[in-house]
Amino acid sequence: MKYIFITGGVVSSLGKGLTAGSLGALLECRGLRVCMQKFDPYLNIDPGTMNPSQHGEVYVLQDGTETDLDLGHYERFTTSVLSKRNTLTSGQIYESVLQKERNGDYLGKTVQVIPHVTNEIKERIYAAGEDADVVITEIGGTTGDIEGLPFLEALRQLALESDYKNVLFIHVTLIPFLRAAGELKTKPTQQSVAKLREIGIQPDIIVCRTEIPISDDMRQKISLFCNVPVKSVIEELDLKISIYELPSLLHSEKLDDIVCQKLDMEAGECIIQPWENVVEKIKFPQRECTVGLVAKYLDVKDAYKSVYEAIAHSGIRNDCKVNVEVIDAEELEQTESISEFFKDIDGILLPGGFGNRGIEGKILAAKFAREHGIPYFGLCLGMQIAAIEFARNVLMYADANSTEMVPETSHPVIRMMFDQRNITKKGGTMRLGSYPCKLVPGTKTYEAYGSAYVNERHRHRYEFNNEYREIFEAKGMIATGTNPDLNLVEILELRQHPWFIGVQFHPEFQSKPQQAHPLFSSFIAAVLRYQAGR
Ligand code: GLN
Repeated sequence: MKYIFITGGVVSSLGKGLTAGSLGALLECRGLRVCMQKFDPYLNIDPGTMNPSQHGEVYVLQDGTETDLDLGHYERFTTSVLSKRNTLTSGQIYESVLQKERNGDYLGKTVQVIPHVTNEIKERIYAAGEDADVVITEIGGTTGDIEGLPFLEALRQLALESDYKNVLFIHVTLIPFLRAAGELKTKPTQQSVAKLREIGIQPDIIVCRTEIPISDDMRQKISLFCNVPVKSVIEELDLKISIYELPSLLHSEKLDDIVCQKLDMEAGECIIQPWENVVEKIKFPQRECTVGLVAKYLDVKDAYKSVYEAIAHSGIRNDCKVNVEVIDAEELEQTESISEFFKDIDGILLPGGFGNRGIEGKILAAKFAREHGIPYFGLCLGMQIAAIEFARNVLMYADANSTEMVPETSHPVIRMMFDQRNITKKGGTMRLGSYPCKLVPGTKTYEAYGSAYVNERHRHRYEFNNEYREIFEAKGMIATGTNPDLNLVEILELRQHPWFIGVQFHPEFQSKPQQAHPLFSSFIAAVLRYQAGR
């Protein structure tokens, strides 16, 4: 087994996850089987309980593991379907070590960071890539962080154990451009590499994030000070158009060649064409449209990362550039003229969410879409909102609501699932992960998927209340997808509407640039039809 470790230097938010994912993509293009892994040094067990405005979206894996959004990049860039084995936090390590200590597994020994914590980390790396040729592990955080030290120490030990043969270290770093001086600066990189060497890690490859191209002199300098060959100084320019340019960009810097050589891996020619096709489509769209994203996190794209990506994928699929206009749900609550907000909008998308803030505004957006024949796509909370709006304004249940918002509502069209009612703990206790869904033929939902059964990923506590199903269907809102085992409503579709669909799951987690999710792609097709007919 070969191991690639990716660390980050100088600043956070360098796009290490994208670099790791793109390297995974390149190695797959060369016929290798890749296993992707992310280690996060924070003490939370998982990001499930963290605020998305701080940490970005919580990405959900097929097995229900709640993870960092980088795992989403890995699944979009590679063919891997990840599980809880592909993600690890310090919180999980300490939880496991302390459990073993309580069980007496350490036979009276003093329990220490070295070797007990580091062994735990190494075990997770060794256990990862059963069916793979190479494991790529990204370490979250930045070199020099105190909390990252046990991870780096474990990597150093692992390199030693493998006799330095099957292990490769890639350090992703920033080369800042000082506008006043008009030059790029390598010092922060030198210092961050020095920090790594201090703990016994010599990077093999330096990936330099930079706004402007780095000169040959600059490459020589980085090579000399960081102790890597010049050809292993890789330039990673800021991406202008799309993140999906990255595999081609890194390929042109020969990153995959260098990695394969250094790890002595036999690999095929790099078949990069599919990625180039993706970029080509993004660069030269046939048309343009605008989707309104009615949201409560306004300035943090990362909070809805997979939604943005799925929209982009369906743009690629429909040969069109989809602009996303974020509409503040709370502002909708206060406005006199809601149509002003939607005057340049060709479709309305309501993403998932929790809690009361902005709910009434979201309900107004769903009403506007329903009444004006504007394509509407509701994800998770977005489906629940569609149901509440329909109950209030079509069935005339004025106080209809979800019991999440108003527990004592007299029309709880959305209510907590039975098995959720006695749960008091927050972490990992929702309905999580992949569940089957059976579709009703002859509906737009069925037509979009083109199959009778699908599997989709969930993350919610509340569900459509089946007591209302009959009256909803009689008045035109049909359950077009249900869980065959639990008889839960998973998809609602408005019959008399060009395209109005809400799903209780998160289809965005299964969309890929080369394979847009069928519902997203059908939504964007409807958006284009609506735009043409306006
Ligand atoms: N808050 C809602 C629930 O828990 C919706 C969750 C979501 O959108 N992910 O059911």
